[in-house]
Amino acid sequence: MGMTHQMEAHIISDLWDLEDWGFDTALDELQNNVGITGLTVRIDPPPAMQFRARAADAPRLFHNAGGLWFRTQADRYTQTRLKPIHAPEMRSRNPFARLADVCADRNIALRAWVYGCCNPLAAAKHPGMAARNALDHTSARWLCPSHPDVAAYLHAFLHDLSEAHTLDAIILASPIWEPPAAALQHVRAAVPITPVEEFLVSLCFCESCRQRAADDDIEVQSLATLVQALVCEPFRRPRKKTPPVADILRDNPALARFEEWRRKRSRAIFRSLAERIRVPLVLHEDAALHIDPSPDDRMLLDCAEPGPLGIENALKRGTARGLSLDGIEPLLELCPDRCPDAPTLVSAATRAAELNFKSLSLSNLALWPDRYFDWIRQALRNARRLHP
Ligand SMILES: [Zn+2]
Repeated sequence: MGMTHQMEAHIISDLWDLEDWGFDTALDELQNNVGITGLTVRIDPPPAMQFRARAADAPRLFHNAGGLWFRTQADRYTQTRLKPIHAPEMRSRNPFARLADVCADRNIALRAWVYGCCNPLAAAKHPGMAARNALDHTSARWLCPSHPDVAAYLHAFLHDLSEAHTLDAIILASPIWEPPAAALQHVRAAVPITPVEEFLVSLCFCESCRQRAADDDIEVQSLATLVQALVCEPFRRPRKKTPPVADILRDNPALARFEEWRRKRSRAIFRSLAERIRVPLVLHEDAALHIDPSPDDRMLLDCAEPGPLGIENALKRGTARGLSLDGIEPLLELCPDRCPDAPTLVSAATRAAELNFKSLSLSNLALWPDRYFDWIRQALRNARRLHP
């Protein structure tokens, strides 16, 4: 204790929500009344419909068509056939540049949230660059980071973004393959989907992955056949009890070797991205599952459990992976099932301050009714009393 930092608080938002609120009006309220010190803006949010939470927001139903909310420079993408696809709203305007100026004037730290490989528009346009599982299903959402054009695009894009504006950090939510838990989210199934199925279908067997794995002496075709057999096994012989993924790996050494190879590849992909840009990269926990961090890496850890427990577990998970306290930032999601009331948020923020966290991230502005801003104000005021 006895430290003098003021706990930073970042709010995660989409650009359209801040723009419709009005950058100056929004930041007057968030900085002066609520006490936030930073904004994290999603740069490449996937297409989605959004019912907006606050009565003042218009239009009430917002449809994000996908694409980039950042103006790219075409000459940076000469090394890749994957070219930037902009959001329709960006055609004649550049609101992110304006926001960056407003934040700089007010001394608000601006971060960009980048999904990266989760890119449904690009996957639809270039199916050959999309991830493909052992059952030959091509992803409609996910690009494969092994594909040379995807890799070159990600490098170019992060470089472009980091040079265009003064950013405090770039948060990477999906720089590598799709996390297993997300892979079957939209699939209807006749058998229960367990972490084993999620893991197996999340493994990419696209041409680029096959080639790279074969170069490293992995027998890709027999491995793909094995994965197909394991996925289909419960149809022939229903399982009494689902084994953990660790058991499947133990019983199938070839699969364990492939998983180890993927971890090394993930690490290499992340390192090569981080080395080429000057802005610190922060890994989102979902993306980081298969990336072994270095002690000086930074990670945003999702506090699934509401309140102080979520904060403590985030610290445990981060330190168990070898990160320093500086490298761990708790991410609190404010919504009824994640953080149901003001006392829960206040005690979470207070615990974060007691544990000496420097920074908290709060998600997501679009989903917050007006009263949540009071909760955040109370929570930050209480937490900062510990570090005046
Ligand atoms: Zn692949």
